[in-house]
Parts: sequence; structure tokens; C-alpha cells
Amino acid sequence: MIWHRQFKLGKSNYTARHIIVVLLAFFTPILLGLPILYWQSGNTLQERAQSASRAVIEHVDDILDNARKVTEDAAPLIEKPCSEIVETLRIKATTASFVRSLAVIKNDTITCSTIYGDTRLPVTSAHFYDDRLALIAGNRVSPDRAILLYRWKNGTSSILAGIDGLHIIQLLNSHEMTPATTLIIGSYRLEQDGKVRNISAGTSNSILIRDRSDKYPFSVETGFHSGALRDYILSRHLPLIILLVILGGLSAFATNRMTVNARNMTAEAKRAIRNHEFIPYYQAIVRSDTHEWVGAEVLTRWDHPLEGMILPNSFIPFMERSGLIIPMTAALIRRVAEEFRLLEKQLPDGFHISINVSAVYLADPELIKSCHYFLSQFSQNKIRLMLELTEREAIEPTPELLQQIHTLRQAGILIALDDFGVGHSNLNYLKEFQADLLKIDRSFITGIGSNDFSRHVLQSIIDLSQQLGLRIIAEGIETRQQADYLQERGVQYLQGFYFSKPQPITVFQSHMCQHLSGQKPKRGK
Ligand code: C2E
Ligand code: CA
Ligand code: CA
Repeated sequence: MIWHRQFKLGKSNYTARHIIVVLLAFFTPILLGLPILYWQSGNTLQERAQSASRAVIEHVDDILDNARKVTEDAAPLIEKPCSEIVETLRIKATTASFVRSLAVIKNDTITCSTIYGDTRLPVTSAHFYDDRLALIAGNRVSPDRAILLYRWKNGTSSILAGIDGLHIIQLLNSHEMTPATTLIIGSYRLEQDGKVRNISAGTSNSILIRDRSDKYPFSVETGFHSGALRDYILSRHLPLIILLVILGGLSAFATNRMTVNARNMTAEAKRAIRNHEFIPYYQAIVRSDTHEWVGAEVLTRWDHPLEGMILPNSFIPFMERSGLIIPMTAALIRRVAEEFRLLEKQLPDGFHISINVSAVYLADPELIKSCHYFLSQFSQNKIRLMLELTEREAIEPTPELLQQIHTLRQAGILIALDDFGVGHSNLNYLKEFQADLLKIDRSFITGIGSNDFSRHVLQSIIDLSQQLGLRIIAEGIETRQQADYLQERGVQYLQGFYFSKPQPITVFQSHMCQHLSGQKPKRGK
């Protein structure tokens, strides 16, 4: 697009809507990216917690294997008096890995211990989970040091192995990013700080994984301290967060530029309408048999003060999108009326003036007023007004639109379907919009003499319109051969550079005089 100049906006031009749109553009990449980052990091931490708990379970299983082995070894000693076996038990306790003490229990009483020797200490069987394992906060010798007890049982007798909680506590603390790992036996848990607590106390950790040992009745719970996820994301993904913020910034910047541009374009187009910079050029429509000029199509140009003459394809789409096509066309219709009024005397009766109308304007009730104003500027039957339905997007045939077309036709205004055969302008449109004429698109005309397909489509359009009693204007005639071809096939009107290029009114007028009925035709202007 040629028309692309930009201007700086003052502060007051930033409306609340503009600011909201820019803020949305800023936050969208961040709001989309962060949940993904959170989800992915949560998964990573969960996997880590899982592997940490597996590792602890394996180690505790090893420790308990040792305890099981030493208690089973000591089993034959149960029935012997304490004085006979205590030394052996002490040797076994010292040589077995992780085991700190051994004791013999008979009927819920410790009868012999490697710490206290021959003794009578009551034991509460209920403390043992699955009759095998118990966690205690400490014993008389070291009241603050947690102990894990393993019991080998045979009837009412059993051997008890005391395992120093320190080994377990080290394990619980040995993992990267300090997953909060605890060992759970029955309703007690041994935590990383070395304390034994009741399980009902709960935990403040998040991302919890609970895994149990296949060999022994304990489980391990692993989680992360609250805030660990945030810390992890900040430490590992800071560059990604910075990237998201940069993306947000870029998207906000681009959105701001686009919004400001659109607003600038709107302001500039409004100014151009006020300053009458949109001017009509005229291209002749001729009879195919005599080549007399019987009408003209109005083709708009923007006479821009800085960019020069701008062609419609550079600004019509924007004018349509912004709705400014309505005031632009209305002003154009007034201007065409003024220019042709001065030529009225030279015009033959029924001279066609054809104006391109976008669908938004066709549906606008102001259009009919503009048309009435236009026709009121000429004496009766002097001018035949034609509206070319020019549309890039599909047009919805709403009842209001169809009613408006009906009213226009009642007022003697002709409806032509522009660019017939391409895009959306097709047979359905013919039925819906009750057109009087078809304009065959230039692309089919270029194919005459070379392209079989175009020729066939062209022939079908001609046949169809003849059956429906519609007249045809063929656009884009550039050669004598094309003009003759179409005339031979019954196309009534022709338009194209071969006859006349779009011209301003003064040039158009001087050429027109030579091509009206009764004048000797000249071509190729
Ligand atoms: P259109 O209605 O199909 O107009 C015909 C276009 O083909 C014009 O381009 C014209 O200059 C060009 N043309 C005519 N004969 C020949 C030829 O023999 N050879 C070649 N190569 N081209 C030829 P222009 O003036 O650039 O207009 C482009 C389009 O802009 C028009 O296509 C029409 O759709 C739209 N337009 C122009 N003025 C207005 C207007 O006031 N309102 C609306 N809504 N659309 C307009
Ligand atoms: Ca047209
Ligand atoms: Ca066309």
C-alpha cells in the first residue's frame, strides 16, 4: 500500500480502550507462557520427589535387611539366660551395620538388653506397626535421638534391634533442592529435623508423593517446602521469564503501533473527505456495435497532497473497513453530479453514469437520498444512474438490503453486479440481488484468443445472461480483437483502455464529444 504515512499522536488520543488493548497484548504471552512453565516445573519437581522417595526406600530397606539378619541370627539365643548371651548380643550389635542395640523380649518385657544387661522393662506391643517396626523419639540413654526399632517375633518371644535414627535422618536430608522427605511408620513420622511426630499433625509441604516399601511396613512421603516451586522456576527459568516479558513488550509495542496507525489513517481519511481530495475519474462505457459512448464508470482517485495520485485499491479496503466509504461515496456522488451538470447539454439522453458502491453503503438508507439528490440535478431522462455492487467479502442478502435494492430499482436506478465470475459475485448473487446488468471481470477478457478455460466461462456467462434477459458490460477491453469477439457473441457494452482510460472530467469531456452518437469514432485514448 502506497498510503502508509504515520503521524505522532498527542496524549489525549490514548483512550481507555486503546490502553486496555495494549495491556492485553503485553500480558497475553506472559499469561499463556507462565502456566506452561508452572505445569512443566511442577512435573519436574514431582519426578524428583518420586526418585528421592524411591532412593530413601531402597536405603531404609537395606538398613532393615541388616536388622532382620542380625535378629534372625540371634534367635537361637532367646531361651538362654541373659548373663550367658549378653556379650554375644553386644558383639552382634556392634558388628552389624546400622544396628545400635539388641534386646530380648518375652511376654512384652525386655529381659535382656545390650544396653541395660539383665533387666525388666515393659514394652507396649501396640507401638509396633505390623508387629515389626516402631519409631520412638529416644530412650533413657539418649532421650532426644530418634530410634527405629525392628522386631523379629516368634510366639511370645522376640528379638529387638534398635537402629540409630541418625542414619535415616541423613538419608532424609540428602536430596537436591531439599525435597521434604519423611519416613512414616504406622501413625508416626520421622522428619528431616530428626523429630518423631504424630502423623495427624499434617504437613505444610506441597507436591506430595507417598511411596511404600515392598519389603517392610513403612512408607516415605516426599514433597517440597511451600515456595519451592516458585524458587525453582526463578532459579532455573529466569531467562525464559525474561523472554516472555520481552515478547509481551514487543507485542504491546506492535499493537500500539498498529492501533495508532489505524487511528492516524482514519484521521487522515476524514481530513481528505473534508478537503475534497477524493476525486472522480471517468472511464467510458461504449456500445459494442457502434462504439459510441453511452456511459461512464466513476473510478475514484485520492489526490493526496504529499503522495500524489493514489489508486483506489490502496485505500478502498481501508475505507470499507473503517466505514468511511459511506461519507466518501456520498461526497463523490455530489461531486459527480456537479461535474456532469455542466456537461448536461452535450450529453445524449439516457447517458449512464455508473458508481461503485460497497455493500456497507448499499445497505445504508442514506444511499437512496444521495441517489435522489443526484438525479434531481439533471432534467428528466437525461441521466441513467447505475450502481455497481463492488464487494471483496461475501454479502449477506438481509431483508433490509433486498428492500433497499427494490426501492432503488423502483426509482429507476440500475443495479450491476461487478466483477462477475470471480470471488463472491456468482449465480447466487444474480438471483438474490435482482441485478439488471452484469460486468464481466477483466480476467476473462484477457483469456480471449489464448485461454480455452476463460473462453468457456465467458461463453457460459454470456449464454446465461441472455437466457435471463440481462445485459452485459465486458470490462478490460484492450484490443480490437477482444472488442470484436465480444460484439459477435452479443455482449452489448464494452469498457476498457482500448476505448478510454479513466480520466478526469475535463479530459473525459473533450474525448466524449468525438464519440457520441453521430460523431465519427476514434479509438485508443
Ligand atoms: P473495478 O470496479 O473493477 O474497476 C475497473 C478497474 O479496472 C479500474 O481500476 C480501471 O482503471 C481498470 N481498468 C479499466 N479498463 C482496463 C483495461 O483495459 N485494462 C486494465 N489493465 N485495467 C483496466 P481502478 O480505477 O484502479 O479501480 C480499482 C477498483 O477500485 C475498482 O475495480 C473498484 O472495485 C474500486 N473502486 C474504484 N472507485 C471506487 C469507489 O468510488 N467506490 C468503491 N466502493 N470502489 C471503488
Ligand atoms: Ca466497477
Ligand atoms: Ca472489475
